[in-house]
Amino acid sequence: MTRIVIIGGGPGGYEAALVAAQLGAEVTVVDRDGLGGSAVLTDCVPSKTLIATAEVMTTFDSSYEELGIIVADDTPPLEQQARVVGVDLGKVNRRVKRLAIAQSHDITQAVTRAGVTVLRGKGRLGPGGQGVDGSREVLVDHEDGSTESLRADAVLIATGVHPRELPDAAPDGERILTWTQVYDLEELPRDLIVVGSGVTGAEFAGAYQALGSNVTLVSSRDRVLPGEDPDAAEVLEEVFRRRGMNVMSRSRAESAKRIGDKVEVTLSDGTVIEGTHCLMAVGSIPNTAGMGLEEAGVHLNDWGQIKVDRVSRTTAPGVYAAGDCTGVFMLASVAAMQGRIAMYHALGDAVQPLNLKTVASNVFTDPEIATVGYTAADVQRGKMDAVEIKLPLRGNPRAKMQGIRDGFVKLFCRPGTGIVVGGVVVAPRASELIHSISLAVDNNLTVEQVAGAFTVYPSLSGSTAEAARQLHIRKRDEGDA
Ligand SMILES: Cc1cc2nc3c(=O)[nH]c(=O)nc-3n(C[C@H](O)[C@H](O)[C@H](O)COP(=O)(O)OP(=O)(O)OC[C@H]3O[C@@H](n4cnc5c(N)ncnc54)[C@H](O)[C@@H]3O)c2cc1C
Repeated sequence: MTRIVIIGGGPGGYEAALVAAQLGAEVTVVDRDGLGGSAVLTDCVPSKTLIATAEVMTTFDSSYEELGIIVADDTPPLEQQARVVGVDLGKVNRRVKRLAIAQSHDITQAVTRAGVTVLRGKGRLGPGGQGVDGSREVLVDHEDGSTESLRADAVLIATGVHPRELPDAAPDGERILTWTQVYDLEELPRDLIVVGSGVTGAEFAGAYQALGSNVTLVSSRDRVLPGEDPDAAEVLEEVFRRRGMNVMSRSRAESAKRIGDKVEVTLSDGTVIEGTHCLMAVGSIPNTAGMGLEEAGVHLNDWGQIKVDRVSRTTAPGVYAAGDCTGVFMLASVAAMQGRIAMYHALGDAVQPLNLKTVASNVFTDPEIATVGYTAADVQRGKMDAVEIKLPLRGNPRAKMQGIRDGFVKLFCRPGTGIVVGGVVVAPRASELIHSISLAVDNNLTVEQVAGAFTVYPSLSGSTAEAARQLHIRKRDEGDA
């Protein structure tokens, strides 16, 4: 029986464990915090649970007047800016933590039921290198100070990342916070400064604003979400500002200092911003230090991320890596896919190398921004020859009925064949709407095929079909010309 040891029990690790067990291997997962990993315990699941409350607040705030809802006879007029609904953050956070622990428990049960051994402890590669039988040693440091040695025919490293900290902005867990610490707050921050306007910063800034905080978003770049579709980022920034967020562009935070019940954030130009709380969202550091990786021949890049190929092999024979610690694409779905691919490869099953061009991702702001396939940046850099169309949701009948004004559907297709190669949806629940475009990209469907499928009338997805139709007409007209 092939022995597999997996270090790290997040999506990269536990999904791999399930596949390896199904393929008949003897599998051990070593995790120091609990199965589900950061994805379930501190990052993805908790943030989306918090955002579920924020989403209800935004929907209510932005549409109750327009849709004719009466809250109470003495509801103040909108211009008085008074809120008619509020949030008990302590209660919200208790729900967040309860759901996270329950999900970790469910995963542990599923993995154990599949016959996998789960060990609580810190894993690292043993100093012995590769044995004569090709196996590797994994050492597990337990909480009681003991160390256990395991032998494995293949090892998977899936240890994830932790939040990066600025040297002069050390989190104290009360007023200066990382994204893993916000769920201990009992009361809503009155004035929250969010440092960092990538996906994590933007999601939390939008969520806390919806919950009722005054939010300042400190962005070192020209606009929020520098890695996303520029049109989508522009819509979001416009919405943030319209709702009263103070978005500070081209502003780099140097330090954050707690002064009593206040926090002062100093920018590189000397400006000092004051708030009651500060959330640092300035990137992450891979959990790869002190694990005996380089000693075992596993190459790391300058950021400490593990170098892997498209079947998750590292540079050391018998050692695979998956998920955020590889820096390939920081998503739970990609981590899980990399982990599964590693196991298919290690256990001699049919394996398809990782294809990042069909990955669907979403920014959980309001509106959401969902993306799949080739992007505007790919087209601009000449990585893909594609024509694009952008259809604002303003013209969509369902959007009008629901009072939705912000957002669009964008499609990219090959000029000759009309094959759909990418798309962006900016809308409420864009994460659900992107799936039809994902199917098209994954299956090389043409704009004619996407336009030809029925959509419900009225529906937001009607805009996807309409965009495909317009691309088809444009392609036909250009062909005639
Ligand atoms: C705020 C936030 C929100 C996010 N939201 C989403 C989202 O909505 N959708 C999405 O797809 N992605 C989201 N992500 C990204 C997603 O969380 C990660 O891509 C995912 O967690 C990566 O999984 P992983 O298995 O690589 O690592 P992790 O989930 O980080 O798991 C790694 C595990 O390994 C353990 N570990 C580390 N070192 C050792 C060691 N030496 N020995 C034993 N165990 C160890 C850790 O304790 C952890 O349990 C979000 C990230 C953040 C920060």
